[in-house]
This record gives sequence, C-alpha cells and structure tokens, in this order.
Amino acid sequence: MIEAFHITDLASKVQSGALSATEVARDVIARIDRHNGRLNALLHADPVRILAQAKAIDDKRARGEVLGTLAGVPVAIKDAICTKGESTTSGSKILSGYEPPYDATVISRLRAADALLTGKANMDEFAMGSSTENSAYGATKNPWDNTRTPGGSSGGSAVAVASRIALAALGSDTGGSIRQPASLTGTVGVKPTYGRVSRYGLIAFASSLDQIGPFATDIRGSARLLEVIAGHDAHDATSLNVPIGGYESACDAAIKGLRIGIPEEYFADGLSDDVGRSVRATLARLEREGCVLRPIKLPHTRFAVATYYVIATAEASSNLARFDGVRYGLRKAAQSLGEMYGATRDAGFGREVKRRILLGTFVLSAGYYEAYYLRAQKMRTLIRRDFDAAFKDVDVIASPTAPTTAFKLGEKANDPLSMYLSDIYTLPASLAGVPALSVPCAIGQDGLPIGLQIIAPALQESRLFTIASAVESACAPAFPAEVQ
Ligand code: GLN
Repeated sequence: MIEAFHITDLASKVQSGALSATEVARDVIARIDRHNGRLNALLHADPVRILAQAKAIDDKRARGEVLGTLAGVPVAIKDAICTKGESTTSGSKILSGYEPPYDATVISRLRAADALLTGKANMDEFAMGSSTENSAYGATKNPWDNTRTPGGSSGGSAVAVASRIALAALGSDTGGSIRQPASLTGTVGVKPTYGRVSRYGLIAFASSLDQIGPFATDIRGSARLLEVIAGHDAHDATSLNVPIGGYESACDAAIKGLRIGIPEEYFADGLSDDVGRSVRATLARLEREGCVLRPIKLPHTRFAVATYYVIATAEASSNLARFDGVRYGLRKAAQSLGEMYGATRDAGFGREVKRRILLGTFVLSAGYYEAYYLRAQKMRTLIRRDFDAAFKDVDVIASPTAPTTAFKLGEKANDPLSMYLSDIYTLPASLAGVPALSVPCAIGQDGLPIGLQIIAPALQESRLFTIASAVESACAPAFPAEVQ
C-alpha cells in the first residue's frame, strides 16, 4: 500500500484522516517481514514500537490537534543516529547493546512533525565505507540486484527507501555516504550545507565533514524532510544560526536561465561510458528546457581523495578514542585497565575501522603532522576555493554522483583503494562544506539506476531542489521490480 504514495501525499492523507497512521504502520511491518530478511536494510525494527507511535499520532488527530508535515510518514534512521532507549550501534560490535539515553535533535524534530520511525538502518561500521559491507552485522543487498551492493555507508537507509520499507530515511554523509548510495539505489539523497542540520546525537566519524541528510522517494519529499530537520540547535556548536526553509516551494520554481557548470574533471578517466552518456543526456535535456550549460574547471579535484583520507582518518582516530569499554557497549575483561582498553578495542572494531584509526593516528603524530595533516588542511582550502571561483560564473554544478552503477558484493571488499575511488565525485563538495544532492536520472544498460549529482553554493539548497525537480519530471523515477 505505502509504495503507491509520495511522502507529501501520504502526509496529507494521514492529516485529513483518509488514512490512519496505524494502517501505514501495519503495512510497514508487513513490508519489513517480506523484504528485510533478504535485504538486511534494517538492523533493528520493533513492531510494538512502530504501532505505539502510530497510535499516538492517530490519538493526537482524534483529539482534534493538527498533525505535523510528516504525519504518518515512515522514516528509517541510520544506526549512527541516537534514538532514546533504542539500539544504536553505528554498525559496530563495540556498541552492541547500546541504547542511548537521549534522542538526537533530528529525531526530536521528526517526532514533532509526527513522522513514524520504522527502525535503525544498516551501515558501514562508523560510516567508513562505500558499500555497507563493512557493517559488523552483514552487508545490505541492493533491491535492484541482490548480488550487488547498495553503496554506502548509508546503504541500509537507501535500501529501506528503494524497497519502500519506508518512504524516507535519514543518513549521514561525510564524503558521499548519502549521495552515492542514493545513486546506486535509484533514490533521492541530500547532503545539506555543513552546519545546516544539527549533529547533536550523531555518532561522530569526522566532525568537520559529517552532515545528516534525507533520503526520499522523490524530490519534494526530500525537501519536506530537510525543512523539518534543518535549523539552528544550541546543542551543536557548528550548527548555523541562519534562516531555513523554502525548499518545498523551490521544487516549483522555473529553471529557465539557470547556469549549470559542468566540471571537466568529473567526466574523466574511471567514469563508465554508460553513466557518462546518461548524465550528458540529462544535461542536454536541461539545456533544451532553458538552462545554460557552461564548462568549468575544479583543478584541485585530483587531490580530493588523498586530502579526505588524511583529514577524515585524523578526526576519526580522535573521535573513536572514546570507545574504550568504560562508558558504552562492549567490554572485554583483562588484568589491567590498559589491557582492557586493548582487548575491547581489538574485539570491538572491524578491519576498516582499525585501518583508519592507525592511519589517522599516524598522520597526526609528531614529526608527520606537517607533512600530512597540515598539507591536507591547506589542500582543503584550495578545493574550497575551486568551488568559490566556479560559483562566480554558475548557479549550480552538475556531474555524475558515482563513476559506475552498483558494483558486485565482494568486488572491492579487499581493495580499499578502489573502494575509496568510488567517492571521487562526492568528496570535493564534502571538503568544501557545500550542499549537494543525487537525483535518479536514468536506468543504465545493465538495468541499474544512475544518479545525477547537483552541487550548489553554501546555504543554497533551494537551487538543488529546483533543478532536481526538473530532472525528476524529465526522467520519471523508477522502482525495482522485485519489491513491487
Ligand atoms: N566512503 C567514504 C569513506 O569511507 C565516505 C563515507 C561517508 O561519507 N561516511 O569514508
């Protein structure tokens, strides 16, 4: 039933009483039963909790109260986001059994908008990965082809939406973890401007890059979600105190005359022919509808992967120091405190997380700090300036979101470098702190979805929604046959 709705339509129906939140909840539970065993999109979903929320929403309406803008909308939550009293593991064994004593700010805001939270979505451990294969709880499968990955790290959130277990989800994006899985699963994914959405209650990976953002079945739905979760929060010192909103109305704005920059560095080696062709065809279509296409240069793009893997690992090594067996989750018995830390961290962290802690500790160590960390920070500034310069001449930038369609499970699992390169087009916007979105633009020759990435200047999310709505109307979004 819910698969027939867009987010905004379902919310109107629940607000008007044409559909009850309880009916939605029953359908969500049935879809979880039918699909989650195969897909492993949700790590934790509690039917009792889902039904209780639905009842509270229906009771509120029965009392004559006006329901919020996400009334009854099923939203899956990446397991890196704290939900009060409900399992939150960040995909790691080290947090098994952890139930946060508070809700993240984004969760309080979803609840206030009467959303129906459907459970916690699978992810690469601590959001480190691009395939969800680094989860300590098994990989998530792509509903378009179960032998393929959905991308990552927010793969569970993307698949919950692609399979319509939920109509929306929250993910987090540090270097592409919302946009890349959105592209590989045929869903919409938005990484807001750094600071736009509160990180309070998000389990930190790399704090200067992490941003929470929405996944949705359609652009308007993603805009509505962003309106609910965005905005200043005194609990997050990096949260921006600036006006928000207008995202949904931006979906109806005209695109004529908008200037779209096409960065030559994003159409280079490594881009699959099929993806390149589909993205160019979409851009040509936008041109016919009145947009102006301009070739641009983002010359420091080739340094983005190296820069990111110095900064992100440095921050991760510091953030993950708190998982020591004392305050949260797993604890291994040992003779001394030092041994307890070691035994807990050895048993609790997976290979990729250990690799990153080692790398991050190395780049921060005395003697190497200037050679790696300081240089990476300087390069980050140059990458940001590339965007500043480009946005003097264009309103948005467009590119493929990922170089290929969904790759096979296991294909890159033992080759970290090739995995790191799957984020080549998403990392620069993260380093620059600017907003970006992935919208489905085509189905490739292999039958798998392809995403177009749109990048805007800081705080100009509205432009993303305007252009993406035009793309969406031109290329009707598809939905995988196996879960219909
Ligand atoms: N794939 C990138 C990484 O492994 C980005 C992950 C993310 O955005 N959380 O770090």
